[in-house]
Amino acid sequence: SGQGNVKVLVRARPFLQREIAAGSPCLLSMNSDTGTTTLHSEEFPGASSTLDGFPLQNRTKGPREFVFDESLWSVDESTKNPFVGQEQLYATTGKEFLDHSFSGYNTCIFAYGQTGSGKSYTMIGTEKDPGIIPQTCYDLFQRVKRMTTRTTAFTVKVTFFEIYNENVYDLLAPRTTTSQPVPLKVRESPVDGPYVKDLSSHAVHDFREVEELLKIGNKQRATAATNMNSSSSRSHAVFTLNLKKIESDPVLDETTEEMNSRVRFVDLAGSERANSTGASGSRLREGANINRSLTTLGRVINILSESALSSKKKDLVPYRDSTLTWLLKDSLGGNSKTAMIACISPCDYDETLSTLRYASQAKHIRTRAVVNQDIIS
Ligand code: ADP
Ligand code: MG
Repeated sequence: SGQGNVKVLVRARPFLQREIAAGSPCLLSMNSDTGTTTLHSEEFPGASSTLDGFPLQNRTKGPREFVFDESLWSVDESTKNPFVGQEQLYATTGKEFLDHSFSGYNTCIFAYGQTGSGKSYTMIGTEKDPGIIPQTCYDLFQRVKRMTTRTTAFTVKVTFFEIYNENVYDLLAPRTTTSQPVPLKVRESPVDGPYVKDLSSHAVHDFREVEELLKIGNKQRATAATNMNSSSSRSHAVFTLNLKKIESDPVLDETTEEMNSRVRFVDLAGSERANSTGASGSRLREGANINRSLTTLGRVINILSESALSSKKKDLVPYRDSTLTWLLKDSLGGNSKTAMIACISPCDYDETLSTLRYASQAKHIRTRAVVNQDIIS
């Protein structure tokens, strides 16, 4: 059925070069069978979560245990957990969500976490190790090819935008080098809900075409270096594939049935607090606005997770308080099958704890996905 909880996965990335150089200890252990992630306060012997041997003052700082739908170990190949590379990640979640899309459901996969925790790697990845978005696109066109017949046709359209300082920018609009990017307006339609006015939509016919758009969009994505990771983005990026399946009657030459689904991916801005990144001036304002979207997302998740228990609070969900939550209203508490991938560093206690808490709350959210199908004749 279309009713269900948000699927929550946690993925721990490998140590970065500078963390290895600094001799940072691993603070994580996982049990992939039970979906358990344990955060330790300091280096621990093996994968044991015992408190024995820890100095007393560290006891207030863990270990903390969390259970998720999946705990994905991408740190190294040295523990008892199977290493989760990009292909395994796709097998775990991407494939299942594409199945839903081909059944006519809207889907949305969020990546959440501090800057440098692996969100972009997970969503987009590299040329050599593509993330969940390119793998989904590849699989999608393989399926389209397989399923296209004399009576069944598909169309695929792509949109890609970012939310930066609460403004929406089209990442695929043709731009000249001299023109400033123009923020687009958010409107609401009685039928389709909130949408971005004048957002460009691009028909794609094969994997290469969508891969090209992904590259163009990523290049356009506004970035501002922080002292945590100079290449990381301070914006929220929303990539959407609109899949349409058209059944027709070859004799009468008319459409008999249409099915629409929205395949959405959201690479959220870094969740770290502005003060921990040494931000100041316009960077600080940037941080405040990013926090507005992320804080509101947190409040929305909070209220949705409580209203899973009592339906009274549903009307009070503050979707309108930020651009992100307003545009993603449907993906958060409405007609969508939704997953959140919480990305964590293996060696940052405070940020990882905050991400794990956030992710824990998201587990309680229920969505009501329906098959978007119209029987025409
Ligand atoms: P974010 O988008 O959250 O700021 P990135 O995806 O840019 O973080 O990741 C930070 C760094 O860590 C990048 O150099 C990235 O290649 C690397 N990285 C992150 N996750 C993984 C992973 N699962 N496997 C290998 N490298 C990773
Ligand atoms: Mg990133």
